[in-house]
Amino acid sequence: MTALITDPEAAAALLRAGGLVAFATETVYGLGGDARNGAAVAGIFAAKGRPHFNPLICHFAEAEAAFAEIIPDARARALAAAFWPGPLTMVLPRHPRSRVDLLAGAGLDTLAVRVPAHPGAAALLRAAGLPVAAPSANRSGRVSPTTAAHVMEELSGRIAAVLDGGPCAVGVESTVLDLSGAGAVLLRPGGVPRAAIEAVIGPVGVALPINAGPAPTLRSPGMMLSHYAPSLPLRLAAGEVRGDEALLAFGPALPGAAITWNLSQGGDAVEAAARLFSGLRWLDAEGARLGLRGIAAQNVPDEGLGAAINDRLMRAAAPR
Ligand code: AMP
Ligand code: MG
Repeated sequence: MTALITDPEAAAALLRAGGLVAFATETVYGLGGDARNGAAVAGIFAAKGRPHFNPLICHFAEAEAAFAEIIPDARARALAAAFWPGPLTMVLPRHPRSRVDLLAGAGLDTLAVRVPAHPGAAALLRAAGLPVAAPSANRSGRVSPTTAAHVMEELSGRIAAVLDGGPCAVGVESTVLDLSGAGAVLLRPGGVPRAAIEAVIGPVGVALPINAGPAPTLRSPGMMLSHYAPSLPLRLAAGEVRGDEALLAFGPALPGAAITWNLSQGGDAVEAAARLFSGLRWLDAEGARLGLRGIAAQNVPDEGLGAAINDRLMRAAAPR
């Protein structure tokens, strides 16, 4: 059962316990979970029915809390002063000691952060006192919800609660600005206009849509974002494993690998999703240190989050 509630303290308690809570922001309703908790983050993807892992925006009560998870530069500080709280999301290098789970950032070295202005969201984030990962609170492939009733239609029975904050004022999503490189790049137009950003930090480039143009030679941030991949070659659907390989196991592990990371001994796809990026990173680093020739991945059934795991493994295995 999904509860419709109005008390931010109660919603914060659910988040702290690992539950999922949808909440109003000034843009659209977000589907929130504790960004430090891999199982909660995996639960967000499962509730949405997303066929792939894309990086989620982390929401904070105030700029300083956001800046503890990323490495802010002068541009980020100036934009925060001008537009936070508000509908601006900034992508910045992840702080090496960030507590945000790797799955929330889809394994990337960057993190998208925002401080929403909606009083209900602000109260929730203040009460929770933790980074809240939240994509829009709709099922995959549907429009973003702007009322609590819309969220209930989409997600009732799949999440712990909806914190009713009334209808959303902006209705369009936040502007996503990539500041992780030397030049600022607009990844998604939204609530804060590009010209307003340029008035603060100067010229802003625009990323090409992910599938536009002569893709392979372009390296726009919008294209790179979905492509965390290990440096060791990855072999999919392995039925056996060699002694000079690292193994990414699922269920009972194949014998004979030099090192093994089991995504889920019990074959649980949600647990596996929560352990996917940390596992790939560990196998890649240890495998390189030991001079292994590659990573073999056992088959993961294509059901539930298994489809998103396979999507990511296929991208990681594609020739580069
Ligand atoms: P949604 O979750 O529906 O609000 O969408 C979040 C948007 O932020 C998507 O366009 C993501 O691709 C983008 N985003 C989140 N994190 C990152 C990141 N680390 N790098 C680039 N884009 C990001
Ligand atoms: Mg969305």
